[in-house]
Amino acid sequence: MTVVLRSILNNRIPGQLVVQITDRCNACCPQCGMRATESFARSTLETGTIKKIIDAAACRGVQAISFTGGEPLLDLPRLVALIRYAGDAGIPFIRTGTNGYMFRHPESAGFENRVGHLVDRLADSPLRNFWISLDSAVDQIHEQMRGLPGVVAGIAKALPIFHRAGIYPAVNLGINRNVGGDATRLLHRQDFGSDESYLKAFYSRYLTAFERFYRRAIDLGFTMANTCYPMSIDRPECEQGLNAVYAATTVAEIVRFTPSEKQMLFKALIAVIRRFRSMIRIFSPLCSLESLIRQYGNEGMAWPPYGCRGGVDFFFVNAADGRVYPCGYRGNERYGSLWEVDIGRMNPPVEEDTCRQCDWECFRDPSELFGPLLETFSNPLGLIRRMASRPRSLATWAGDLFYYRSCSFFNGRRPPDFQKLNRFSPTVDEAGSASAFKYSQFNEKLSVS
Ligand code: SF4
Ligand code: SF4
Repeated sequence: MTVVLRSILNNRIPGQLVVQITDRCNACCPQCGMRATESFARSTLETGTIKKIIDAAACRGVQAISFTGGEPLLDLPRLVALIRYAGDAGIPFIRTGTNGYMFRHPESAGFENRVGHLVDRLADSPLRNFWISLDSAVDQIHEQMRGLPGVVAGIAKALPIFHRAGIYPAVNLGINRNVGGDATRLLHRQDFGSDESYLKAFYSRYLTAFERFYRRAIDLGFTMANTCYPMSIDRPECEQGLNAVYAATTVAEIVRFTPSEKQMLFKALIAVIRRFRSMIRIFSPLCSLESLIRQYGNEGMAWPPYGCRGGVDFFFVNAADGRVYPCGYRGNERYGSLWEVDIGRMNPPVEEDTCRQCDWECFRDPSELFGPLLETFSNPLGLIRRMASRPRSLATWAGDLFYYRSCSFFNGRRPPDFQKLNRFSPTVDEAGSASAFKYSQFNEKLSVS
């Protein structure tokens, strides 16, 4: 807590580093440039280099480190050694995850032993959070997308093994057009007479899709959920100004949405999260989703999104060259090796050069959550102006903090406390079924006032 306070008083957020330890992968996700079928020279960061990065990160006060890929579990002993190394270096928030390939063939005789071995290794490390990807509410679609048949049944069988060892994995949904199966995949603007009727159907289908998704996640045994907002990047000709260095970002249509679609997507997500967050711990802060809705509706002036802390407090390390970048999207800005970069001297964003070029939740969610706290000390008048203009936004933010606290700040080594989560049971309005939910009401009910 002292580190957090000290950071905030210095107008900084506790640092976060996403380290891509490898870009090798054994899955076939259509939305990702690292899929196994993609042909390019693969890279794996050397263990010595990663340890040097961890040392430099710890010296610079970085509090959270994610080991990502590619598929991080391809070399389990090395991964566990790195997690231990980061823990010994004093970094408390350590995360990693998997596409789930280890959970294929749940019917095989050695399944429990295989998974038990993985779980024991992870449990005996200072790992705090472990994610397992799930791209669709429809099992077969997820398995087809990943190229991992049988993996969903394997996840259901593996989760109790994790829980017995005191690890509570989070289901990780990367939002894409397959999330609701055919209901969302086959939804096309050209099949509707007007933008309004299309967006109406879009909202309704994604609302149902997210509901089905969280229900399925709970049925499978998950107690925690993260949602990756669409990791899309516009094609160079669209002049988004980004040049992704992290190949999980993509120009693929499956995760590209228009600004109006994104508004509907995030509104649907907010509605569903409100209904489900007493049943499963959901990372996605509503204040961040509301901020994205305002951004894509061009109504951000009264309470504009807080500046993304990518390149200020949060950084990405690329497997191909071991260099630091502001994030996975801004590949044009290569800073060098972490130990050469004085991240303490990176300037916090001022309003005019605030970056909002993508929706990467790893960086945007915490930027939004910490925003009002930073503003309390750095620009109290600005915060008062925001509060006066949008008191409901402040209430949403405070509600998120309360929720985070009730979820033990998403400690993946603790079971959910349903007594605390019960405080977030949906109101009668929020609990209404998707079919009864009228689009005509939703602007009134969900618009960000
Ligand atoms: S999204 Fe993850 S699992 Fe899928 S191909 Fe990319 S790196 Fe592999
Ligand atoms: S919004 Fe954040 S994560 Fe996205 S491109 Fe900008 S700095 Fe990077």
